[in-house]
Amino acid sequence: MAQTSEPDVLVIGAGPAGAMAAALLAQKGYSVLVMEKQHFPRFSIGESLLAYAAQMLLDANMFDAVLSGGFQYKNGAVFDWEDKHEEFNFADKVTPGLGFTFQVQRGKFDHILAKEAERFGATVRYGVTITGMTPGAPPKVTCKTEAGDTETYSPKFVLDASGFGRTLARMLDLEKPSAFSPRAARFAWVKDAIPAGTFDRQKIRVGISPKDRDIWSWLIPFPDGHSSLGMVASTEQFQRYKGTDEEKYWGMISDEPALRSLLKDAHTVRPVGEIIGFAANVKTLHGPGYALLGNAAEFLDPVFSSGVTIALHSATLAAGLLDRTFKGGTPNWQTEFQEPLMFGVETFRTFVTGWYDLSLQDVIFYPEKSWQIHKMICSVLAGYVWDPKNPYNGPQSGRRLRALAAMCKDGTAHKIEVGNLS
Ligand code: FAD
Repeated sequence: MAQTSEPDVLVIGAGPAGAMAAALLAQKGYSVLVMEKQHFPRFSIGESLLAYAAQMLLDANMFDAVLSGGFQYKNGAVFDWEDKHEEFNFADKVTPGLGFTFQVQRGKFDHILAKEAERFGATVRYGVTITGMTPGAPPKVTCKTEAGDTETYSPKFVLDASGFGRTLARMLDLEKPSAFSPRAARFAWVKDAIPAGTFDRQKIRVGISPKDRDIWSWLIPFPDGHSSLGMVASTEQFQRYKGTDEEKYWGMISDEPALRSLLKDAHTVRPVGEIIGFAANVKTLHGPGYALLGNAAEFLDPVFSSGVTIALHSATLAAGLLDRTFKGGTPNWQTEFQEPLMFGVETFRTFVTGWYDLSLQDVIFYPEKSWQIHKMICSVLAGYVWDPKNPYNGPQSGRRLRALAAMCKDGTAHKIEVGNLS
């Protein structure tokens, strides 16, 4: 495809969604211009990936670059609540695909992906903020450089991958309140000082507060003795903690004694950060000349580390549809982008809902689950939520998970015949 002054595709934001879309489209020969308002590497929260994310990076020819980043190998997740401990190894899943992934410092990881997009031929410009957009054919985009210059573009299509910037959602009045009640996270990196051999660094540890089962922590080890450590609570519970940022942080952690004891010699190596009210939604994922990717569309909750996986999957779907469009096709963005994407998002929504109403926690800690059910749940936790063959995926996931949770509660879940799941 000849490079013209107007790009085929203008991408807003060079996070995982934007870099993935740009890399895939550039590999197909299209001209792609990515506008990123920050300079990379920059800090981002969201360090625990899922196995399906690694599979998508492999399919997009970016896996070797990620591997060269020296990130922490990750093979699953462990859930701890009081004396209960449940492990999920991603390899124990029903959906084909990679059974491992990485725990990544996002500044470095996102920069690697953006550099990969450039290697494939995309142009990435840093320090440029999108300030206006008129949908249409073609759409018209305005941006501002750090020098204060205004530029306008009329690409064939715009992909909004601006994450929590939510650029088009705000500009085009697409915002819709999330159905989840507001929650907040307090987090930092710590020198964890966990003695070697006493803790599995190849898994994310999700800890549940003994006082309130809807308050939980993440511990995401990196390979250098540091970990990302964060706590999530409702905005009301969050306000209970008083003092300096450090005092509030360690106060929350101390409410989970097993975690506090694991980290008894730990100290922070980054300032404590907070995000309050992260759940977000939109009315539509597409319109004339544009589509929304990743967090620029919806964000559910961090508990199942689904954000980057959804970002990469949405970018993969959109790049495929644009390829068909540029070859003369007329794909339907509702039935071929929004609805297929939502199939997997609904799965995560079911799991997040079940986490906070505690029914999923009952399933996770049920001691005698059938091995096949364990593997189906594990596939979801590994990010393979778009596999229609897994009964716990898609629009039926809520009904099936509630039925499973009820059987766990009355102690009959081990009797489930997997072939009879309706
Ligand atoms: P982003 O990564 O946010 O990238 C968007 C980019 O767009 C940014 O670089 C930004 O500078 C740029 N931008 C914004 N506005 C503009 C503009 N107007 N013009 C130009 N550029 C712009 N996900 C996981 O997978 N695993 C986790 O463990 C995890 N933990 C989380 C913990 C918390 C507390 C929260 C809140 C989220 C967590 N997430 C996690 C979610 C994860 O951070 C996001 O889902 C992920 O970063 C989304 O990627 P993205 O590419 O859509 O957006």
